[in-house]
Amino acid sequence: MLNDPRSHGLWEKTAPSPPPAPRLEEVVTADVAIVGGGYTGLSAALHLAERGVDVRLLEAAEIGFGGAGRNVGLINAGMWVMPDDFPRELGPLYGERALDLLGQGPYLVRELIETHGISCELEKNGTLHCAAHADGMKELEERARQWQKRGAPVTLLNAAETEQRTGSSAYSGSLLDMRAGTLQPLAYARGLAHAAVKAGAKLHTGSAVVETGEANGKKFVRTAHGQVSADWIIVATDAYSTGPWKQVRLEQVHLPYFNLATAPLGDNLRRSVVPGREGCWDTKEILSSFRMDQAGRLIFGSVGALRGTGTAIHKAWARRSLKRIFPQLGDVEFEAEWYGLIGMTDNALPRFHKFGRNVVGFSGYNGRGISPGTTFGKVLAAHVLGEISEAELPLPPTDTTEPGFRSLKEAYYEAGAQIAHFAGERF
Ligand SMILES: Cc1cc2nc3c(=O)[nH]c(=O)nc-3n(C[C@H](O)[C@H](O)[C@H](O)COP(=O)(O)OP(=O)(O)OC[C@H]3O[C@@H](n4cnc5c(N)ncnc54)[C@H](O)[C@@H]3O)c2cc1C
Repeated sequence: MLNDPRSHGLWEKTAPSPPPAPRLEEVVTADVAIVGGGYTGLSAALHLAERGVDVRLLEAAEIGFGGAGRNVGLINAGMWVMPDDFPRELGPLYGERALDLLGQGPYLVRELIETHGISCELEKNGTLHCAAHADGMKELEERARQWQKRGAPVTLLNAAETEQRTGSSAYSGSLLDMRAGTLQPLAYARGLAHAAVKAGAKLHTGSAVVETGEANGKKFVRTAHGQVSADWIIVATDAYSTGPWKQVRLEQVHLPYFNLATAPLGDNLRRSVVPGREGCWDTKEILSSFRMDQAGRLIFGSVGALRGTGTAIHKAWARRSLKRIFPQLGDVEFEAEWYGLIGMTDNALPRFHKFGRNVVGFSGYNGRGISPGTTFGKVLAAHVLGEISEAELPLPPTDTTEPGFRSLKEAYYEAGAQIAHFAGERF
């Protein structure tokens, strides 16, 4: 995308085309203007258009340009934080409401994919959170206990069961979550875009919003070449936010995360490396993730940016790691490499922002946006339609606050990952 093979990597090579979405070049009115063409914006556009609402979606670059086109493709239920952290941070009412909604999120993703016939390599075999050490197993036991008391279909697996599913003896156990799964993330975003267009939404790419305001009783968003006046504005720009809602990006600390994809594995290896195609990640502080795509490529990722000295360091570390985790692979070459920036909030929970009357948005999914973005986009549609009041939303409104030492923390994450990976897996 935008001629950068390290921005969307494999996903751009294997995703079906997006629908036509010409640059906005006129001054128009609509019921709702949506800013941002990722999961949040596209889900809101689809759900509104299906209800006959006149929607214009403006995307600065291309559909899926932000996190939606760069991620690992793990369709998770909930967030990174422990389930009990939701009520602890948000209070029992919002906490359990948000957790319940996010726990169901993967089912909404599956339903949309099936209803709209979205071709995006959906796998429904669950995810495996793998214990990299004894402390990791303790964390998983606690996580299992907290989900199970809420009736979630999660199961602890021992080392042998984990080896059977992953093809690796590197883990002392894992937590299987059958709500979850994997997909091709850019294909899912483009599929949502096709469904939204079919339902009547008008999408415009290459249309960065540079200004917003209010005139003649309506809100407006302005791009370099056009303007949309509307009753509502949905802000769905998250970690890649530019323009009038840059503050959404500034309240987050960017954590870089890269992925490397092998060439399609041979039949024997496919039978031994994650044969059930669960999406996997580990309990390490600088975590690693791995999953298969439909063509049998192994996609391996971790914290770090593939730029400057990072590219060689992270790739060399990944080769050493794969030798330890999957010795059966032998020496691997990578067919695609890419990275993106994950927006982390200070309490690792998402945010609901009200930027003014009828200007609303969700953001800050902390590396978990596929089902939360889809779910909260649908919630925003219901809110705009008057079906969910502000008090019934899954999160309370908060102001955007820039964390102290944000730039320093971002530099620390990027450099810290390089140092850890330079030294890691050598012995
Ligand atoms: C490397 C990486 C790995 C990840 N792994 C996973 C994973 O495995 N599972 C998971 O669930 N989540 C994962 N995530 C997180 C997930 O991708 C995001 O949470 C999700 O994409 C957020 O969706 P969104 O629609 O809110 O924002 P985005 O997908 O980021 O979309 C926002 C869009 O807004 C546009 N925009 C910004 N400013 C403007 C403007 N002024 N005018 C017009 N448009 C604008 C941007 O160009 C962008 O396309 C990962 C993220 C990254 C970066």
